Amino acid sequence: MFVDFDGTITKVDVGNSFFRRFGSEAESLKAVEKWKKGDLSGSGLLLQEAEYVDVSEKEAREFCRACEIDASFKKFYLSCIEHGIDVTILSDGLDFYITEILEANGLPGIPFYSNIAHFDTRKISIELPYQSECTKCGNCKGHQILMMTGPDDVVVYIGNGFSDRCAVQYADIVFAKDDLLRYCEENNITYFPFTSFDDILVKFSKTVASGNFRKRHRAELNRREAYSAE
Ligand SMILES: [Mg+2]
Repeated sequence: MFVDFDGTITKVDVGNSFFRRFGSEAESLKAVEKWKKGDLSGSGLLLQEAEYVDVSEKEAREFCRACEIDASFKKFYLSCIEHGIDVTILSDGLDFYITEILEANGLPGIPFYSNIAHFDTRKISIELPYQSECTKCGNCKGHQILMMTGPDDVVVYIGNGFSDRCAVQYADIVFAKDDLLRYCEENNITYFPFTSFDDILVKFSKTVASGNFRKRHRAELNRREAYSAE
């Protein structure tokens, strides 16, 4: 199972809050608008926003650590572990705040893949270790899923935004809200709407209990095509 971080596990987009607080709010808003229109890639957005940052590592970590998560995420995560379901976080955000927030909520050790921030005095530089050739995102979640799953796996994806678009092409079971929900609607991708992890837990418990995991044909075909192209 793969879960987005910003706005999915957390209540707000932490990356966005961070750049608005410690970068240039005006530049950040402009850049986000461009990104939403498709005029700027996700990685371009991140690199642009990072240019204006003025913060020490300590301040940055303290600010982000205070960001709240969905109150039902921990219960959901523990239930997955109990049922032997692997949970991996895929984020197009930054490593330091994911680490801080997971720790602050008693959830250290959940594996995650994200972009990496390097602090240097009051500046940050961004490393994109998981970018794919298309460069639309810093961290290509679709590529990550292909790397971490096999043709026979049932892939579950939970997310809320634009950086999840590539991931849902390969997911059999999609839980979506906000921009991702609209994307699934427009592109005829079957999904379950959710507002909190409690909703997902209810749906998921029924599916696990009944053993009724069904693959989504289009997702399976997409994965098979991608595996054979590699
Ligand atoms: Mg998100």
